[in-house]
Amino acid sequence: MDDQLLSEDELLLKNTIKDFADNTIAPRAAHHDETGEFPWENMRGLAEMGLFGLGIDEEYGGSGGTNRQVAIVVEEIARACAATATTYGAHLFLCLHFIQMYGTDGQKRQFIPPLVKGETIGAFALTEPDSGSDAAAMHTTATGSDGSYLLNGSKTFITNADEADVLIVMASVDRSLRARGIIALIVEKDSTGLSINPLHGKMGIRASSTAEVVFDNCAVPMENRLGDEGAGFREAMEVLNGSRLTIAAQSVGIAQAAYDSALAYVQQRRAFGQRLADFQGLQWMLVDMATSIETARLLTHKAATLRDNGLPYITTASMAKLHASKVAVECADKAVQMHGGIGYFAPTDAERFYRDAKVMEIYEGASEVQRLIIARNIIPREESGN
Ligand SMILES: Cc1cc2nc3c(=O)[nH]c(=O)nc-3n(C[C@H](O)[C@H](O)[C@H](O)COP(=O)(O)OP(=O)(O)OC[C@H]3O[C@@H](n4cnc5c(N)ncnc54)[C@H](O)[C@@H]3O)c2cc1C
Repeated sequence: MDDQLLSEDELLLKNTIKDFADNTIAPRAAHHDETGEFPWENMRGLAEMGLFGLGIDEEYGGSGGTNRQVAIVVEEIARACAATATTYGAHLFLCLHFIQMYGTDGQKRQFIPPLVKGETIGAFALTEPDSGSDAAAMHTTATGSDGSYLLNGSKTFITNADEADVLIVMASVDRSLRARGIIALIVEKDSTGLSINPLHGKMGIRASSTAEVVFDNCAVPMENRLGDEGAGFREAMEVLNGSRLTIAAQSVGIAQAAYDSALAYVQQRRAFGQRLADFQGLQWMLVDMATSIETARLLTHKAATLRDNGLPYITTASMAKLHASKVAVECADKAVQMHGGIGYFAPTDAERFYRDAKVMEIYEGASEVQRLIIARNIIPREESGN
């Protein structure tokens, strides 16, 4: 959304985060990308700014806040470093918000304050080697025994798992029930039978850590269950519905960064006796980028505003994720193109944006899954009996 349409408070928040993003996060982004080091300093900085408490009740140490504020903050972080935005998102919007939405008062008092302060790190484990988009087909089982659940199975591609002290894990108590047999559990790092195997070789967002999580008779107290038995899948989908607009905001941030780098480059590079910026062909590329970024941002803020107002927002959030992730990929592509050969090389930011953008179309519901959700919600079903 154009700054003119932000409230005074939103503008203040945006400028505060922008300052931190430009001066602290962005200068380290290429280093983190090259080394794949977990962005601890960035995470500590975000925690110190109170940003791990965004959308979390003050009673549990959070700072409250709106979904519009979330969209503003996430876009600014992603503009500076998409890997940090991914790390932040898994910690806050997938783990912390899950506990806030479905935890008992006791669970919230125990787990939320250290996560908000950044003393502990959170993760969310749904995907398995044989079930991603079709998450209800999961194989990980939870068998009740002596006040505990024994978990067996494995999860894959889990962001933050290697650093996490707290993982929200979905498992099935009865696979024949599919979605209705799934529970959500808070699993602590030191649980017996839990092992984490870091995964390497990611195309982009390299400083975000991704791991396999293996459960071998991993014992988790029943009191760590979030919500009712059988409600875990519905809860996870609800959490993902909200988090989806943060992926849209991440995508807008990457697209904006790609646009900014392309605009800066074409103003200083010369060919055929003039600036690249003076060639109409490149001007039109910039115009298309600016226009598509604006539409992606507006759609993201619309989804956030709907959610803030308690209105139906799921279709719009899916549209925002679908559209903004496509815009991120297209803008990163154009930015590399406008840089010419140098755009193909590190440490040009353009090549990092190109690699970082792609995952936006894959994680937290791939584009095809967003289309399934949108189709289900916009196309009336045929009356049964016809
Ligand atoms: C870097 C990274 C971080 C991640 N972090 C996490 C995390 O923290 N926690 C977590 O639980 N998961 C995480 N994931 C997993 C991610 O959410 C899944 O990869 C994603 O949901 C897709 O699932 P899949 O990989 O099994 O692909 P599949 O489900 O096998 O899909 C393969 C392709 O088929 C398409 N497809 C599937 N079903 C349909 C259909 N019905 N119609 C049309 N097309 C279809 C998909 O869209 C995709 O293009 C992460 C993934 C990555 C890459």
